[in-house]
Amino acid sequence: MKQKHLPLLLFMLLPLTVAAERLTPVDYVSTLVGTESKHSLSTGNTYPAIAMPWGMNFWMPQTGRMGDGWAYVYSADKIRGFKQTHQPSPWINDYGQFSILPETGDKPIWDENERASWFSHKAETAKPYYYKVYLADYDVTAEITPTERAAMMRFTYPDAEHAYVVIDAFDNGSYVRIMPDQRRIVGYTTKNSGGVTKDFRNWFVVEFDRPFTYTAVVKEGNIDDNAIETTNRHAGAIIGFSTRRGEQVTLKVASSFISEEQAVQNLREIGRRSFDQVMTAGRDRWNEILGRIEVEDTNIDHLRTFYSCLYRSVLFPRSLFEVTADGDIVHYSPYGEGDVRPGYLFTDSGFWDTFRCLFPLLNLLYPEMNEKMQAGLVNTWLESGFLPEWASPGHRGCMVGNNSASIVADAYLKGLRNYDIDALWEAVKHGANAVHPQISSTGRLGWEDYNKLGYVPCDDIRESAARTLEYAYDDWCIYQLGLALGKKAKELKPYREHALNYRNLFDPSHNLMRGRKKDGSWMEPYNPLQWGNAFTEGNAWHYTWSVFHDPQGLINLMGGQDVFNHMLDSVFSVPPIFDESYYGGVIHEIREMQIMNMGNYAHGNQPIQHMIYLYDWSGQPWKAQYWIREVMDRLYSAAPDGYCGDEDNGQTSAWYVFSAMGFYPVCPGSNQYAIGTPYFDKMTLHLPSGRSLTIEAEGNSADGRYIDGMTFNGTPYTKNYFTHADLLKGGIITCRMADKPNTSRGTTDDAFPYSFSNEK
Ligand code: CA
Repeated sequence: MKQKHLPLLLFMLLPLTVAAERLTPVDYVSTLVGTESKHSLSTGNTYPAIAMPWGMNFWMPQTGRMGDGWAYVYSADKIRGFKQTHQPSPWINDYGQFSILPETGDKPIWDENERASWFSHKAETAKPYYYKVYLADYDVTAEITPTERAAMMRFTYPDAEHAYVVIDAFDNGSYVRIMPDQRRIVGYTTKNSGGVTKDFRNWFVVEFDRPFTYTAVVKEGNIDDNAIETTNRHAGAIIGFSTRRGEQVTLKVASSFISEEQAVQNLREIGRRSFDQVMTAGRDRWNEILGRIEVEDTNIDHLRTFYSCLYRSVLFPRSLFEVTADGDIVHYSPYGEGDVRPGYLFTDSGFWDTFRCLFPLLNLLYPEMNEKMQAGLVNTWLESGFLPEWASPGHRGCMVGNNSASIVADAYLKGLRNYDIDALWEAVKHGANAVHPQISSTGRLGWEDYNKLGYVPCDDIRESAARTLEYAYDDWCIYQLGLALGKKAKELKPYREHALNYRNLFDPSHNLMRGRKKDGSWMEPYNPLQWGNAFTEGNAWHYTWSVFHDPQGLINLMGGQDVFNHMLDSVFSVPPIFDESYYGGVIHEIREMQIMNMGNYAHGNQPIQHMIYLYDWSGQPWKAQYWIREVMDRLYSAAPDGYCGDEDNGQTSAWYVFSAMGFYPVCPGSNQYAIGTPYFDKMTLHLPSGRSLTIEAEGNSADGRYIDGMTFNGTPYTKNYFTHADLLKGGIITCRMADKPNTSRGTTDDAFPYSFSNEK
């Protein structure tokens, strides 16, 4: 260490700057961002996931009651266990849950309310690879560090004649067996909220580093210290020992959706490593993934927000595959009989949310992961006859659209190849012309009418306009994929034609999209500020822009750029008034729009998240630059209330990540990114090819948000978009920033990004 040789005074002056230089990407991450949420108002609806990137099992401190989707909320005072979780969203809730809690006291406490211990955020460390908290009621410090399917916990006890660990297998039919000779507890939980097979089980194994002096099982709330095995509605196990102050007890825990034997196999992810070794490996892995984007900037708040968002962007979809003793990749199939099938499977992502920019982020920076996810989609298709739209772990009935087509097309068109695209081609065509017999949001509800009329009629299908607009974009995705695969024009014709179906819902008298009846007449009455009804969690002002693949076509419908720009401006200037009558109450997405002081712009939900970038198509890119910064500065932070609505499995976070880069994939499948405004002084993307792309913003500041000029590898760059191929070549993009808009840059047709209507 050089510092040892420095004079003492100089050494005392240095540490702050030296320490700052040593921070690695994961040091900026707070996993508590978004946890100050509740049913009526979401600031993220996240929980502190203690996990590896795309890992199979996540862990969390559990503050909420068993079964409560808001399982960790920042405002809570007490922790009732450390829960293995697979929850993608409180609205979807959890599956495969069980929990572990250390205790001290004369007797072990089982009841989840009575055993909950006071804690403070001041005695809490929340990192992706490491969590630590002081459980005050027991004078125990608990630490957790994860692997992909296992975890280690370390409990530091006080002097305690009676120290315990309670394992709660939850209340939907569960099993435990204590094996004192092996210092091991095995069991299963069946607690779930749907999307599982009839005999669904999450098998777990917990192995301690010391023998037990006390054992008991719990049957329906009754602690029985004479038994070591039980199957009942709500089973648990309690083991005990005595400890001296500062004594550390370490346990290893793993689980499997396949079998008890496979859970033991998954425990080998830890092997003989110590807690600290597992933690260091976890930290290194997180830095490898987060470090694909290197940021140089002096604003530590922005760095914290950025890397916390990037952390959220690489959690979902979660792995559902496991590795056998022979090294084979297999998975529990949540379809059919729940049997074990070969190959990859990923889950816990709502494609309605994540097609927009989460998957495009994977395609740019982590394509090797998305190739595995695409291979998993092949398996879902083969095992269930459909691609997923909202998987957790199997098909769930949630949201609208057929956006699996976008996820398949964007991956392939951006060059991902290591999977069976022929199977996925069959799958996207099938999904466009069928609906799942039990799960109406899988496939296309209303596909017969849509194919016949050119829209989903509002007569008897709810949220018909939202469905139509997304189906039209999805058809464009299928068409583009088919072109790339060399499919015949005859086969592609319906998709090419239906890609323009958005036109059928455009009401020129309002310049907005509108529900339409079977007979061709408009939906009546019509209030463009009504949420829901023909739309999904949004109103006409939010959904009119869902023409991702053809903004020029929408401009033409509105009567030109001036009207289009006026309509975009109006989203922010129409006051946040709303009509909630369809829902019979104010849903949290409405409230989150109302309180942000941004008019009718509703960044807290996904449908409008690309809208700001549309100014790139209409000759006023400086307005995009203005509003992107307003959203980033006002609606995001690294605090527990750091999001402005449901974060939704990485989508809202990936928006920030892309926007900080200075570009955004408005139309996945087009291989273009609309240019926004780079947020940091300097950012370097370490691309999967080994090349890197640097984005510099000279003169960047809160006011200096406008792009005055730009060079790409030294050549002046005048377009409002980058192509995927150009970005992959790497090099340097240099932006000259200014605090006044440059109203001549990016204003002509040749600067505008892709529109289907312009395709000849
Ligand atoms: Ca949402």
